[in-house]
Amino acid sequence: MASQQVSGTGTKRSVRTKINPYEMLLQQLDLVREQTDIPAGTWEILRRAERALEVSLPITRDDGEVEVFTGYRVQYSSARGPCKGGIRYHPAVTLDEVKALAGWMTWKCAVVNIPYGGGKGGIICDPTRLSERELERLTRRYTAMIFPLIGTMRDIPAPDVNTNSAVMNWIVDTAGLLHGEPVPGIVTGKSIELGGALGRREATGRGVMVVTLGVLQRLGIDITKARIAVQGFGNVGSIAAELLAKQGAKIVGLSDVSGAYYCPTGFPVDEVLRYTATSPGHLLAGYSARGVEEITNDELLTLDVDVLVPAALEAQIVTENAKDVRAKVVIEGANGPTTPEADLILAEKDVVVVPDILANAGGVVCSYFEWVQNVQCFPWEEEETNQRLGRVMQRSVDEVWKLAKERNVSLRLAAFILAVERVAQAIRLRGIFP
Ligand code: GLU
Repeated sequence: MASQQVSGTGTKRSVRTKINPYEMLLQQLDLVREQTDIPAGTWEILRRAERALEVSLPITRDDGEVEVFTGYRVQYSSARGPCKGGIRYHPAVTLDEVKALAGWMTWKCAVVNIPYGGGKGGIICDPTRLSERELERLTRRYTAMIFPLIGTMRDIPAPDVNTNSAVMNWIVDTAGLLHGEPVPGIVTGKSIELGGALGRREATGRGVMVVTLGVLQRLGIDITKARIAVQGFGNVGSIAAELLAKQGAKIVGLSDVSGAYYCPTGFPVDEVLRYTATSPGHLLAGYSARGVEEITNDELLTLDVDVLVPAALEAQIVTENAKDVRAKVVIEGANGPTTPEADLILAEKDVVVVPDILANAGGVVCSYFEWVQNVQCFPWEEEETNQRLGRVMQRSVDEVWKLAKERNVSLRLAAFILAVERVAQAIRLRGIFP
């Protein structure tokens, strides 16, 4: 696609276990339910998406043939504010996946306490099979079809797996044309020239770094002695690896859809980034350096490291490989990378898992800053964005950590309790219409 690197390029979905992400979300909610006294009726609200739209998307391919794609936009909750969440282009997108991702966005925005609900969108497509012009036509058609749902105070899309600022630029342009005036706050993750926030591209990876530092410090692990493996070298994994390496950590494992690589002495991440800037598909394939060996995706996930950062797709740490995970800490850069069963296995092994809704929230926090700047027509300096992002992430780690200690529960359960109770409280305060 475009010359920019696509966001969140992940490692191949596990073929072993077919997992329905929405079932996973419901299982997670059941665990939270045991820990709270939220009324039964509110649980019924929390378990469902408010609204789901399926759209049919015909485009003319470059060869003149018409091909019809399917897309979705799900608004899971608007109890705490406008719905917020990215758009994913992937062949494995399903309505249930988009619903789950929209639900996770709801808890994510609540756990970091930004005034948003949760939403998500997706198109079933393989963007590597589409030319840039085809991708533009598909994006503009999708924008037109979900236009009745989105809006600056209604539902604000953003990048997710395989979408980037170029895609967001087409969305903001199409939405502005349909609206009759520019609507910069209708989407985040845009190019700076169109109202994007300085620092947004790096924000999810930066958040992963801040959370990792906060958790390692609490566990008494020195970052400069930490060995880290990162699964996925897209927008999240590559930047997290780069920033963690800058903090002195040794990045010994890296992977993307093209393969996984091990370098016991630590990858020169800057050099790897220079390689993927121009490599075919911006992939790691073909990268070679002294001491680097190719391994399997499973070997990467089970490397003998201090920290494992799964930053690709959901359901990567599953029943079959969880028992072999040797990391002391798992920082979930991706959404839903650990299944609930695998989570139990990791807990038995005393692996500290920092859940996705906290670990990767840096992206949406920065999206919120972008939106605030758009609404106020007042751009900030990058330093201000980074400082505020750091503060929100540190405060959130602190709150989740304290609750986990108080209730003697995992960080995941603590984050979910905090988030779900905040959403439940908003539902209670609003009352039920009519
Ligand atoms: N797609 C990102 C996520 O899953 C960012 C969403 C946003 O910025 O709205 O958190």
